[in-house]
Amino acid sequence: MFFVEVILPLALDKTFTYQVSEAEFYFIKPGMRIAVPFGKSKVYTALAVEVHQNKPLLYEAKEIHEIIDEKPIANHYQIKHWFWIAEYYMCSIGEVYKSAVPSALLLESETIILKNKENEVLKSELSDDEFLVYEALEKQNSLKVQDIIAILNKKTILPILQKLLAKGVIYLQEEVKENYKPKLIRFVRLHQQYDNENGLKELLETLKNAHKQREVVLKYFQLKASTKKPISVKQLSETAEASNSIIKALIDKEVFEEYFLQTDRTDFLAENLQKEIILSHAQNKALEEIKQSFETKNTTLLFGVTSSGKTEVYIELIKEYLQKGRQVLYLLPEIALTTQLVSRLRKHFGNEVAVYHSKYNQNERIEVWNQVLNQSEKAKVVIGARSALFLPFQDLGLILVDEEYEQTFKQHDPAPRYHARDTAIVLGEMHKAKILLGSATPSIETYFNTENQKFGLVELTERYQKTELPKIEIVDLKDKHFRKKMTGHFSDTLLEEITNVLENGEQVILFQNRRGFAPILECLTCGHIPQCPNCDVSLTYHKQKSQIRCHYCGYAIAKPMHCHACQSVELTTKGFGTEQIQLELEELFSDKKIIRMDRDTTGGKFGYEKIIDSFKTRESDILVGTQMLAKGLDFDNVGLVGILNADNMLYHPDFRAFERSFQLMTQVSGRAGRSEKQGKVIIQTYNPTHPIIQKVIKNDYLSMYKQELTERQTFEYPPYFRLIKLTLKHRDFEKLRDGSMWLYQSLKNTLGLPVLGPEEPPVGRIRNEYIRTILIKIPNNKNLKSVKEIISKNLNSFDAISQFRSIKVGINVDFY
Ligand code: ADP
Ligand code: ZN
Ligand code: ZN
Repeated sequence: MFFVEVILPLALDKTFTYQVSEAEFYFIKPGMRIAVPFGKSKVYTALAVEVHQNKPLLYEAKEIHEIIDEKPIANHYQIKHWFWIAEYYMCSIGEVYKSAVPSALLLESETIILKNKENEVLKSELSDDEFLVYEALEKQNSLKVQDIIAILNKKTILPILQKLLAKGVIYLQEEVKENYKPKLIRFVRLHQQYDNENGLKELLETLKNAHKQREVVLKYFQLKASTKKPISVKQLSETAEASNSIIKALIDKEVFEEYFLQTDRTDFLAENLQKEIILSHAQNKALEEIKQSFETKNTTLLFGVTSSGKTEVYIELIKEYLQKGRQVLYLLPEIALTTQLVSRLRKHFGNEVAVYHSKYNQNERIEVWNQVLNQSEKAKVVIGARSALFLPFQDLGLILVDEEYEQTFKQHDPAPRYHARDTAIVLGEMHKAKILLGSATPSIETYFNTENQKFGLVELTERYQKTELPKIEIVDLKDKHFRKKMTGHFSDTLLEEITNVLENGEQVILFQNRRGFAPILECLTCGHIPQCPNCDVSLTYHKQKSQIRCHYCGYAIAKPMHCHACQSVELTTKGFGTEQIQLELEELFSDKKIIRMDRDTTGGKFGYEKIIDSFKTRESDILVGTQMLAKGLDFDNVGLVGILNADNMLYHPDFRAFERSFQLMTQVSGRAGRSEKQGKVIIQTYNPTHPIIQKVIKNDYLSMYKQELTERQTFEYPPYFRLIKLTLKHRDFEKLRDGSMWLYQSLKNTLGLPVLGPEEPPVGRIRNEYIRTILIKIPNNKNLKSVKEIISKNLNSFDAISQFRSIKVGINVDFY
């Protein structure tokens, strides 16, 4: 008897055994996909991990449907890594497999198939079976895999669908199609020979008889003088009321020359390609130290202040690994940052750079997957967010984790709830690769690991071109309110500075850690605050849409005209968000363009890029945003950064609140004065003497770190204790209360460790499900594996109690 052991893409803890023929037994390699029946009538794409001859004891092994691949699509590194993730993060191997592999490679009976209307299909290129599917899709808009099984009267159809996918005939429903390409803006500048006083005279002389052209040139000068910005063709034709053809004539005459700014492609121009980096002395030293550190340590932290040119150091390092023929993985905390980085990297590595992340559609993802699998030249360097970790690397030499402190590296829902930085380190060790973490504000854990010699440490303390760090000024809001120096949410100090900076032709970034107009709408008569009916949270007022909205479940209603409790029409708002700031600015600076970057404005595949493009090309003057601003964006014309209210982050109920406030304020400040000039930062706060704010001003990471360490030790938090958080959810309040109490007691009795809870989180009900959390603290010297075993046993017993079985329990290891 011959068997194959497979992983199913379902939340199942174990691998499953299926029966195969002798020929199949010798053909199957680990990492090949196998279509298998499971449950009553479903078919899934499973992954082979082993062939063997051991008959399962507990069940009758079913036969496979068929082998999908000719050669493996996943390798042994991946499979080993996925099992590690499942074990460490306490989830099922099926969940890891399902999230690791692009879903188009995992067709299953429930998958919905649609016809790709954008593609011309050559019918002659379709096989008979493929044609039948194609024809069926002509008649019906969508089909399930099961329908197709019926149409073809075959049980093995997944390979047929794979081929149709590859030919672009069909696509899978979950894909949202979007077409935005980062914008290519056409600019003009005066030809060098005219760009001076004499040249201009001469030019106007030659254009004496071409009135309209002359006018355009004059307008160009006016614009240039007043805005000090690059001038787009659109802008020029509007102000000069000139048609495009007049501008074109001037370009043809070589009065103007045209150029394009800011898309990933423009940077790809040949002129930019060969650009060599000349590292500064400090950067060179850092690079050498990193290489030295790698001789004894697998993982090293590059602790470099904002704008020290860490990326340049990475690039030089990447070159060395590519020369050795090895693959490089570059992880970023935020998908939206990839566009900026890709264009920077393509200048050096041309087409060897590939991008992989969850906003990519299935075809793009499969393409990169295959390139990495085949060690193609086109994917020598892979840039991506978390999920790029799952690609089929064969020979990874270097992993870069930029902005390693970012909390977005941790996946929260669904499982696997992994931390990409930590998971990358494990992956790197499997490949005998080196791992470089980079940050201007390292996480406490990472810095701790350098102190205890687990990681190497390399510092880069000066900014590139030795620009000074921005000057930070504190504004005391209490005092400003008392002396009536506030206009809306702006102190006179901040307003003056904004005005100055804008007059200089520079840009401004304003940070407010809340979106919407105001988090609370309150009745002045009875004090009623509208709440979400599905969640225990008040509704946030969004003025532009005239709505009040729940930020947890998306529930929204029109803004009430009167109080729903007492009918009073006197409603007021409390607190403020980015939308309000934008509206206030639009009144204060009506001739300036103000854009906003938060979760409301960055939807869609390129929502974020559009905003960054607009700010980078200086189409807009002021950028207002939430913490999205803090993530390593590189702008070169920002004269001022304003933090409107530092207090709400400092008093966030979370043991990391101070660490994060320091990181956020330091990172946002780092966006100011990037090129040759020192920038300025203004922090508005009610607590000007707060120690964290003082440390931000002095850029004193170490003293923040030391203070935090003491607190963490006293209150039993990371890096001294590991945290495992259990989240229990149910619609029935009492059942949940009893169940979480039972589990808490049981854990407390069996673990002999600090167990906290069951606690009601700040938002205790979301989407009509009540929530309770239990926190387990595990000191560093405890054996983590045995603790996890005890927790699993507890969860099994919990599951065996029929009244609790319907309570959902999520496990989050290294809860952030
Ligand atoms: P960090 O990531 O450390 O904040 P960046 O790598 O974004 O800093 O560098 C800041 C700016 O300085 C970028 O615009 C970058 O192109 C420029 N820069 C840094 N080092 C060099 C170098 N050696 N040569 C040319 N430009 C550099
Ligand atoms: Zn009322
Ligand atoms: Zn809600």
